[in-house]
Amino acid sequence: MKCFSIDLGGTHATCGLVEDDKILASEILEVENSGSLAAMLPGLAESLERLGGGKIPHTGEVSGVAIGLPVIVDFYRGKALGSNGKYVDADKTDLQAWGRESLGLPLFVENDARMALLGEAYAGAGRGFENIVMITLGTGIGGVAMIEGKLLRGKHAQAGCIGGHLPVKLDGRMCTCGAIGCAEAEASGWSLPLLVREWKNIEESPLDRCENIGFRELFSEAARGDRIACEIREYCLRVWATVTVGLVHAYDPEIVIFGGGVMKSADVILPSIESHVHKYAWTPWGKVAVRAAELGNNAALLGATPMVAQAQP
Ligand SMILES: [Zn+2]
Repeated sequence: MKCFSIDLGGTHATCGLVEDDKILASEILEVENSGSLAAMLPGLAESLERLGGGKIPHTGEVSGVAIGLPVIVDFYRGKALGSNGKYVDADKTDLQAWGRESLGLPLFVENDARMALLGEAYAGAGRGFENIVMITLGTGIGGVAMIEGKLLRGKHAQAGCIGGHLPVKLDGRMCTCGAIGCAEAEASGWSLPLLVREWKNIEESPLDRCENIGFRELFSEAARGDRIACEIREYCLRVWATVTVGLVHAYDPEIVIFGGGVMKSADVILPSIESHVHKYAWTPWGKVAVRAAELGNNAALLGATPMVAQAQP
C-alpha cells in the first residue's frame, strides 16, 4: 500500500511517499515564520505532487494522506484541537476539506509524537511489542503511549500524548503549557538555556560564553570534562529518568523508546536512564526495556502506513 506522509515540525515539514515500511521519496520544506498551518497547505500539496509523480488531486494508486502535527489532535474527528504556540490556526483549519477537495484523498491527522510511535512500533525499535512508551527529547519533550497495541487517546484526545508535561519538580520553572515544573520546562531544548543561565557558578564554565546553547554543546563540554557542564547534564538525565518512571507507572509499558537529536549521545543517556528506571520504577513483573529509537527523523513518516491501513477494507 502506498500513501503520502507529512511530518510537520516547528521549523520544517517533511513530506514523503511511503510504501509499507519503505520511504520511496521525501523532501523537506521550510516552515515560514508566520506559524500558520493554512498558509502551509498549498506548498505541501505541491510537494506531494512532485513526490507522487502525478497530478494533485490524486487519481492514482495512493491510498491516503497521513499528517502529523505538533499540537493536540483528535484522530477520530480528523482535526487539531489545541496548540501550544505552534500552528495557532490549526484548530480552525479544515484539513478534511483540504484532503477531499485539494488532494482528492482521504486524510488522517495525528499528533506528531503519536505518529512517530506508530512508525517505531511498525518498523523500528517497537516491533514485536504492544505496550510502548516513547519519549522524544527535542525542543520540547514528547511522551506518548501505546497500550495493548492501541495508541492511548482518551476523552479529549489528550491521553498518552503530553507526557513531557508530567510535573517533575515542585516550585519548578513555568512551562509554556501553563503548568509548573513540567519535565519539558526543566530539561528540554527550549528550557536548557534558562537552566544554564541560572546554574550556580556558571561563569566558571565555557557554557557561559556559548551563544546558542543546545544539548550538543552541553554534552560536548561535559565530555571534555567541564565540571559545571557535567552537573547540568546530570540534572537533565535525572529529569528524563524521573519522567520515565512516571510514564512507566502510568502506562505499564514493556519498553520505553527514546528518540530525538540528543540521542546521538545515547551511549551516555540510555545507561543512566536505564539504571534509574530499573532502580526506582515499581515493576514487580520484571524490568522495562530502555532502547533508542531506530528510525530517526523517518519515524513519523513511516507511521503513515498503519494510520492509513486502519481505514482500508
Ligand atoms: Zn508543561
